[in-house]
Amino acid sequence: MTPKGQAAKDQTGSAPERIFDGLAVGAGIAIGIIHRHDSRAAVQVRERHIPANKIRAEQQRVVDAANSAARRMQGLQDQARSMAGPAGEELGYLLEAYHQMLSGSRLVRGVQNRIAEEEINAEAAVMKEIGLMAEAFAAMDDPYLAARIADVREVGRRLVESLDNAAPTGFEALPQGAVIVADELSPADTALLDPKTVAGLATLLGGVESHTAIVARSLGLPAVVAADFLDQVENGETAIIDGGEGRLIVGPTPATLKHYREKRAAFLRTQRSLTKLKTVRACTRDGLHIQLHANIELPSEVDAVLAAGAEGIGLLRSEFMFMNRQKLPTEEDQYKELAGVVRRMQGRPVTIRTLDVGADKLGEVFGIKAGPNPALGLRAIRFSLSHRKLLLTQLSAILRVSALGPVRILLPMVCTIEEVREVRRILTRLTSTLKRRGVKIGNPPLGVMIEIPGAALAADALAAEADFFAIGTNDLTQYTLAIDRTDEQVAYLYNPLHPAVLRLIQFAAEAAHAAGIPVSVCGEMAGDERLAPLLLGFGITELSMSPASLPRVKKRILDITFSTLQDKVRRITTLADPAKVKKVVEELSS
Ligand code: PEP
Ligand code: MG
Repeated sequence: MTPKGQAAKDQTGSAPERIFDGLAVGAGIAIGIIHRHDSRAAVQVRERHIPANKIRAEQQRVVDAANSAARRMQGLQDQARSMAGPAGEELGYLLEAYHQMLSGSRLVRGVQNRIAEEEINAEAAVMKEIGLMAEAFAAMDDPYLAARIADVREVGRRLVESLDNAAPTGFEALPQGAVIVADELSPADTALLDPKTVAGLATLLGGVESHTAIVARSLGLPAVVAADFLDQVENGETAIIDGGEGRLIVGPTPATLKHYREKRAAFLRTQRSLTKLKTVRACTRDGLHIQLHANIELPSEVDAVLAAGAEGIGLLRSEFMFMNRQKLPTEEDQYKELAGVVRRMQGRPVTIRTLDVGADKLGEVFGIKAGPNPALGLRAIRFSLSHRKLLLTQLSAILRVSALGPVRILLPMVCTIEEVREVRRILTRLTSTLKRRGVKIGNPPLGVMIEIPGAALAADALAAEADFFAIGTNDLTQYTLAIDRTDEQVAYLYNPLHPAVLRLIQFAAEAAHAAGIPVSVCGEMAGDERLAPLLLGFGITELSMSPASLPRVKKRILDITFSTLQDKVRRITTLADPAKVKKVVEELSS
């Protein structure tokens, strides 16, 4: 392949290979013929003077055009509703936002005022008004809002089309395998691309958070945005999109084509095998069932959890309920959020972790000042126990949702048995109070996160108090090695495979086994398929990870023979040299 920035003539002497790097937004490889889409050309309008006696009529044209564009949008919304999966849902929300912009009076009123003040035609007034809105969005110091510029322009385009009675610019007659290359692509147009016809897309503008990117991902289209190709790309040229690397290659040489054909075939093989796995039980070759659960930070992630075929939620980080709000959530607020998750999981277990905050995280919500060393200060369960009302409210909400399905309570950053005993006493009192009031509640198990080295070393004592363990390898690594997990200056030392960390995991797992309580890993280690044999070798049969990691971990588990692992893993924990540990872990995972 030609290195970036260099040009190589292909054998036919046609245009040289060109490589443009951008942002990777939709994994996969597309190879096809470029179809250039010029979204800006559609909105070129001429400004005309409108005499005073025609202003009212011109203003009425805007109202009529907005109504008709809104009706067209309604049609698209119906179409979106019939699309399966998250793409349809995503598009539905988006079109609803467009619909509101068109039918809401603000934009229309702004355009009408401009027509009157500047005595100009409706099309020109729309473009000016939209330009102003887009500028305001661009000035916002927030990548999510900045990415909404494309949405604003899209509404303007539709309004101008409607004023001119133009048919919406579509992609109806695209050739099979088209690679769409556009300066920018509206999310609505993206969503209506048919993945059976379109191979992939590349845009000059856009961000990873833009709706266009989100929809491209939902449709499974290889996509790259912010690729700096400008005018160097022609209709009809051969192009490759490497959505995983964020790269557009135009006019590839035969060698490049061969390389990417092979890469695409390998990608498709992996995808096919992963999709097939959704309903496959995660069992090792010798029949040991490994429970694969998902970690979530937001209720909206439940769709991804179900799509990945997770058997439950192994870690619900409840902090989301406390973010971006002026007032603390009431018990009812929390109940509603959590009940939504439990109901949508339809009988699968949901592990709800109590608030994991400290003076460093979400401090502003609770009006507390940071201590001298926030990571070692008043945080997580320590914070909750010193803010009883807050803990009581959260536990009441969790007890109530436990009547709706199998719920487990998980305590973060536990370091002494006294903390567990105290929460249990609170739960016992709350249970009888709620029952006395006739409130329906369940009897959720109470678990402990093992993420402080002291807790791991005292795991035998904790196992006598807890109903289950969840090993948080992210914090366990941080505290064992005294490395702030958020400080990039010491990131090179952050190593969950350090012998000290592995020995603590082993000790905690053995303590859980001895006490006969379940033990899982819910730190990032669980989502790394290369480490699955190691964790299974510790006898850990429940792993919780981000939904996106789950199919890869499952695939790895299907290949493992459990009975051969334990001796090898025991040998790993006798090694003191991190480099040797790494080597043996690599052997284990190959
Ligand atoms: C952990 O520490 O491993 C963990 C799962 O908790 P969090 O990442 O939320 O601190
Ligand atoms: Mg943690």
